[in-house]
Amino acid sequence: MITVVGSINIDLVVQTDHMPEQGETTLGNSLSIFTGGKGANQAVSISRLGKETQIIGACGTDEYGKIALSSLKKENIKTDHVFLVPDVSTGVASIIVSNSDNRIIVVPGANYLLTPEKISSVKDEIVKSEMVVLQLEIPPETVQAVLEICNEYHIPTILNPAPMDKFRKEFIDLATYITPNEMECISLFGENMEETLEQYPNKLVVTLGDQGARYYDGEKHVYINSYPVKAVDTTGAGDTFNGSFAVALTEGKTIEEAARFANASASLSVEKKGAQTGMPSYEMVLNRLG
Ligand code: ADP
Repeated sequence: MITVVGSINIDLVVQTDHMPEQGETTLGNSLSIFTGGKGANQAVSISRLGKETQIIGACGTDEYGKIALSSLKKENIKTDHVFLVPDVSTGVASIIVSNSDNRIIVVPGANYLLTPEKISSVKDEIVKSEMVVLQLEIPPETVQAVLEICNEYHIPTILNPAPMDKFRKEFIDLATYITPNEMECISLFGENMEETLEQYPNKLVVTLGDQGARYYDGEKHVYINSYPVKAVDTTGAGDTFNGSFAVALTEGKTIEEAARFANASASLSVEKKGAQTGMPSYEMVLNRLG
């Protein structure tokens, strides 16, 4: 089983032809409601690939929490250890989309109440995992607490350092794999990517959007070429990469094989609109790998 400890959000997406200016009211064309949040997205990616998945997170006791939990359950994700926190809203991303422009406000809500104390109470669940996957949409002290438990029990971890402002230097030694995108890698570790990668061999795996991914294996730089696809929507590409990378690693694949698998999987996800819609099954990834 893979455990994701991370965010659960409801995405409220309003589509309009005209982005309102300050003080202006405009008409929208549609309202769509999706379950999102990096934690939930990565859990969906793992589960679609057929791997037993559980998510540890926090929702409010509001209607949005019910919607989020029921959509995660529909994806076959174990939600028994999602904390229901009263008097706070479920995490919500309010998204306005107008042509190619978008404006987003994220209310973390219950996600920020996933405290280290709550993690202590589910330690037994965490230590049962083959691998634990984390992002930074929950409090950094909680991420640290999970990484420390996993370290103590020798459970491999993937930390996707997004959003990067919550990153702590202590995470570097604690996490088994760290998977920033190119921009996050440069901001967190500096301009010289070669040097950075050489400092963290077989740990730092950098995703490069339509250029694929890269890491350093201790002797040489390894580049994983991307698939030339018609990208319709790259939202959730990184989440698909991380979820798929985790699944492949738990199967005993090498970092290179796992990154190739994740790259193929993420290339499928960008061909469909929406973060979760295009997340593929295992068979679809095998077909793409050829
Ligand atoms: P994030 O979504 O976190 O910003 P990236 O943009 O680096 O991360 O994308 C993550 C992965 O998704 C890439 O490593 C690649 O495998 C895949 N990907 C992203 N954009 C494309 C694209 N245009 N064509 C093919 N694959 C893509």
